[in-house]
Amino acid sequence: MNILVTGGAGFIGSNLADALIEEKHNVTIIDDLSTGKRRNIPRKARFHEMDIASPVVDKVFESGKFDQVFHLAAQMDVRRSVENPSNDAEINILGGINLLQASVKHKIKRFVFSSTGGAIYGEQEQFPASENHAANPLSPYGISKLAFEKYLYFYNFQHGLQYVSLRYANVYGPRQNPEGEAGVVAIFCRRLLKSQEAVIYGDGGQTRDFVYVDDIVKANLLAMNFQSSMAFNVGTGLETDINTIFAKIKKYTGSSQERIHLDPKPGEQRRSCISNEKIKKFLGWQPTIPLEQGIEKTVAYFRTQTES
Ligand code: NAD
Repeated sequence: MNILVTGGAGFIGSNLADALIEEKHNVTIIDDLSTGKRRNIPRKARFHEMDIASPVVDKVFESGKFDQVFHLAAQMDVRRSVENPSNDAEINILGGINLLQASVKHKIKRFVFSSTGGAIYGEQEQFPASENHAANPLSPYGISKLAFEKYLYFYNFQHGLQYVSLRYANVYGPRQNPEGEAGVVAIFCRRLLKSQEAVIYGDGGQTRDFVYVDDIVKANLLAMNFQSSMAFNVGTGLETDINTIFAKIKKYTGSSQERIHLDPKPGEQRRSCISNEKIKKFLGWQPTIPLEQGIEKTVAYFRTQTES
């Protein structure tokens, strides 16, 4: 198939692009390299350095004759979305609508969207949260992801565009940006491998649902062949606190650094964990990489990056 991956120079998008090429698909990438890296782009992919909101996107669709679109390009920094909600909405809502318009015009068969299970529900009342949990996001980032899901529903209803929205938990693994604000696993790996201090905000008892990037790629591949339009959580259903993550990374890096705690970040969610019952039932997906193994693989990757 001819496939467009937006955000294909980023962490998850480049891992997905590699897997699609492995399966012999023709992959085109649109990415503005705002956080993505040119070195992540697979050699066999066609690459357009471009903003998803650009009018030229239509030309890329015209020449690419895409069957499917995987939309991962996003402003995905929660704190930045709080500081600049307009910029977040311009990329995550208006940029996305630009892709939806082109998808309808050029008769795309399926649109697979990278949404968030970590930010869409807000402070959870049930653990793990199912897709039916109240969605009261506590950041403009969560709001823009939820709003875009509503646009997907509308484009399906109005134009028959098939979609799958994948609400990821906290994704970690090779190529995650260790310089960003998010991505605690990548940040700790980099810092402990460089014998630098790693800071935990608050007591470290806050929990997240950590899912390895290969499992996220598999969920995207399964979504390609799904014949219906709906949203799925993609997570492990397990809660792990930040102190445990620190301890595991410390073990695999062999670091002697001790934990350093600073004041909690205002407004940070205390607990987050999402149910995977629905995606198990409809797509036959389940996580395959346990946390211990995933951390070991991620540390091994960052070790090669730190040494080179
Ligand atoms: P990432 O920052 O590595 O990837 C995002 C990519 O989009 C980057 O390559 C960036 O350059 C590109 N991009 C940003 N704005 C763009 C624009 N206007 N035009 C074109 N390209 C643009 O982040 P990631 O972790 O790989 O996230 C991929 C997707 O998954 C995002 O949509 C994110 O919201 C979603 N997601 C990620 C996580 C996680 O834990 N990493 C969790 C939930 C959802």
